[in-house]
Amino acid sequence: MLTEAPSRRDIRKLKLAELQQFFVEHGDKPFRAQQVHEWLWKKSAKDFEQMTNLSLTTRELLNAHFTINHILVDTMQQSADGTIKNAVKLHDGLIVESVLIPTEKRITACVSSQVGCSLACKFCATARLKRMRNLNPDEIYDQVAAIKQQSELFFSRPLTNIVFMGMGEPLLNYNNVMAAIEKITSPHGLNMAAKRLTVSTVGIAKMIVKMADDEVKFNLAVSLHSALNATRSSIMPINDTNSLEELGEALKYWYSKRKKKVTYEYVVWEGINDKATDAQALLKFCKIIPCKVNLIEYNPIDDGEFRQASDDALLMYQHLLESNGITTRIRKSRGKDIDAACGQLANKT
Ligand code: SAH
Repeated sequence: MLTEAPSRRDIRKLKLAELQQFFVEHGDKPFRAQQVHEWLWKKSAKDFEQMTNLSLTTRELLNAHFTINHILVDTMQQSADGTIKNAVKLHDGLIVESVLIPTEKRITACVSSQVGCSLACKFCATARLKRMRNLNPDEIYDQVAAIKQQSELFFSRPLTNIVFMGMGEPLLNYNNVMAAIEKITSPHGLNMAAKRLTVSTVGIAKMIVKMADDEVKFNLAVSLHSALNATRSSIMPINDTNSLEELGEALKYWYSKRKKKVTYEYVVWEGINDKATDAQALLKFCKIIPCKVNLIEYNPIDDGEFRQASDDALLMYQHLLESNGITTRIRKSRGKDIDAACGQLANKT
């Protein structure tokens, strides 16, 4: 029996070439690494014992040197509308949440990118949890893999879409989110098409420029909520150092490279952004690059400081935007009864 190395490394932090080198150093064939890689990613193995096409000695060797920091779905809740929320336990005991959203045509996975969030948007429950740490690529990947399994198990349908709209700000965990996406879209991973994937951001201008330079192939959504600097700053502190003008410039650059419509997410609140001037400002912002607008329903997060605006206000926005050629959808919340809707993820369970 091999003794355990003092500190075992997270095997999914190794590149394939590093794993090949490990096997060569231990007198084995480099192709062993491919077999292990397939277990780790494509087959989502949770421990080395599952790797039944490897000899017992090889499994013991791996176990002595490495850990698999697989996530564990700790609790699963289902909403009356079919939405499933997973509270996911990480290897260090921290919890994040991810959501499966079924509709007639799609099954969407909504995944977290950080434990907590540093952005302090005033209307968001996740903002009340301080940011604890970034998720690793494998922890992001595992959330998608778990929802893909649930989709097949409970709905007998494949997972069709992935949105980074869970906890955290994906562009503040850029490298890990990109590494996760690389694996999610790889034929050696989940083989999902990049065009089925949307990264949602509070709108960090310099990171949008970086994404454009990196020529990413997924879609971009920006949580806008106001196209007036004073209003936006009052509800989203990020706007103080990252103004709408900078955001607009970054989006122009993004569009010059990606050539695909951006989606603006926008909640209309009573007394905050429900006036014609607010809608006019949004229309002006929408002319910067081709876009569509999702008017999303507000999900109250307790103290009542924010209230969803009237249907009239929503229709006012929709008429103005649509009559100027901008596709505008009014989106109802899903999974509200289990706190699984946008902005409600706060580890209540
Ligand atoms: N940090 C990223 C992704 C997480 S938030 C971002 O800001 O885009 C996912 C979406 O939910 C964002 O559009 C966010 O603005 C919105 N949201 C946050 N709190 C909400 C609430 N209480 N009701 C409705 N939408 C909310």
